[in-house]
Amino acid sequence: MPSINILEKPSIVALLERASSSLLELEQRIARDLEILEYPSRNWLPKIQRPDGAHVYDVIVVGAGHCGVTAAFALIRERITNILVIDKGSVGAEGPWQSYARMPDLRTRKAVTGNELGYSNLTFRSYYEAREGVDAYARLQRISCDEWTCYLLWLRRLLNIPVQNETELDLITPENQVFRLKVRQNGKTAELLTRRIIKTSGPLSMGGATIPPVIEKEIPRAHYATAYDDYDFSLLKGKRVAVIGGGASAFDNAGAALEAGAISVDLLLRRRKIPPVSVIRWTDWSGFLQTYADLNDDQKWKMMHQVQRNAAPPTIRAIKRVEAWSNFSIHFNSSIASATMIDNAVVLKTASEVITADFLLLATGFNFDLRKSPPLGKIVNEIALWRDRYAPLETASEKYLNSPYLGRNYEFIERTPGSAPYLKHIFCYNQSSTLSMGPTGRVSGLKYGIKRLMAGVCGSFLREDYEHHLSSVTNYKAHEFEDHPWMDAL
Ligand SMILES: Cc1cc2nc3c(=O)[nH]c(=O)nc-3n(C[C@H](O)[C@H](O)[C@H](O)COP(=O)(O)OP(=O)(O)OC[C@H]3O[C@@H](n4cnc5c(N)ncnc54)[C@H](O)[C@@H]3O)c2cc1C
Repeated sequence: MPSINILEKPSIVALLERASSSLLELEQRIARDLEILEYPSRNWLPKIQRPDGAHVYDVIVVGAGHCGVTAAFALIRERITNILVIDKGSVGAEGPWQSYARMPDLRTRKAVTGNELGYSNLTFRSYYEAREGVDAYARLQRISCDEWTCYLLWLRRLLNIPVQNETELDLITPENQVFRLKVRQNGKTAELLTRRIIKTSGPLSMGGATIPPVIEKEIPRAHYATAYDDYDFSLLKGKRVAVIGGGASAFDNAGAALEAGAISVDLLLRRRKIPPVSVIRWTDWSGFLQTYADLNDDQKWKMMHQVQRNAAPPTIRAIKRVEAWSNFSIHFNSSIASATMIDNAVVLKTASEVITADFLLLATGFNFDLRKSPPLGKIVNEIALWRDRYAPLETASEKYLNSPYLGRNYEFIERTPGSAPYLKHIFCYNQSSTLSMGPTGRVSGLKYGIKRLMAGVCGSFLREDYEHHLSSVTNYKAHEFEDHPWMDAL
């Protein structure tokens, strides 16, 4: 996708304008809700003074997608206010919704909640009903990606979430009770100091897209993009496109390529048919999302293999979107046996067919490989992975084995106990935490995951600042009543 300013995209401008005129009353109700539920309102973290006078944040949240914004909201509610959220993207471009989510609507049902942390006036439903009316919400089938972008921007503005956009984290260096973060902002390098890091930098920041080895080896990069690349689909006009993959993203990419003017789109998937079941949806119940993290390793391993036994299938709208085109073909039972370049075209062979394309779109999932996460550069080898702690009986996927093996509150733990104690101050809240913590990075998991995350962050501060708090309670002298003859002199 060409780098456009999302805030100037006509469909977004139109929605933001509608929002600004009609949400005032709701916003006033929200201000009151926040005030009523403010207790206890005391900021409780000691201010860190450094000899060099440099500012030390208590928490830096890396990534301003929906997990980052919600984590920051939760921190503020816990009175941890000396925080900063950074995102490498520009305002409105955070997360996949305006780039590689090539679907018109969210896959999640419209009633999903999570970002609002239980404040009903902050839900998507309240936002939409205030703007469009109750009947309009009743008629709404799914939340569009534009609507979701505007909703997240609205939350962020209303809740005063301190986001610094176009700021990319390059490197984390632990240093005497703090982390030094090397960031790049507008081409310039800067450094930020923080006591805790919450890594809500999305699935791609933990390894990247999976590229089938046969493609990576034989096909030049100019002839393919992954489903997660911010690729300019207008370049597909007049091209023969082949999409590889059988999940929702494959169909969304095929639909987007057809709409961009591809002369033909062939979708190749290994499966015999599309599974009608999205097992991940089974996880949307409180007992599971709330306590999965407390299961033992064996239970987690078996459970998550069942949950992830198939990629999210396409929605029926995504299927209809592609089948409407006569230049679309679907090829089941089509594993790629070989891929070669002939006359500047990609020739794919399956067991029964030969398909020629000018360009490939790879919707073959993403992997976890922390070594490909540059910010973890210096500390990556200290982080425990599942492969370090668990030996499955059956042959297991690299993706699972390479997932970080997290503590009970999303914190990294050390591969070798005692070697990197600072790791417990980095909280990993993104899809790579799924095996350890459950699918709490999806909207529906935020309700439970963020609570657990906050318990971890708050607990870690209390433990580290214990002496400060002990001294504070020892010297506590706030009077409960005014001068009175019966009052003891302290
Ligand atoms: C195509 C697609 C569709 C999905 N649809 C749904 C759905 O309908 N419902 C649902 O519940 N879930 C859905 N998901 C799953 C999940 O909810 C999304 O992936 C969601 O975006 C996760 O939110 P996040 O905040 O963890 O990460 P993201 O939204 O990916 O946000 C991460 C942010 O971190 C920033 N970042 C990354 N690295 C750095 C760095 N080094 N420095 C600074 N910033 C950085 C990125 O710019 C990005 O804005 C979907 C996922 C995909 C990929």
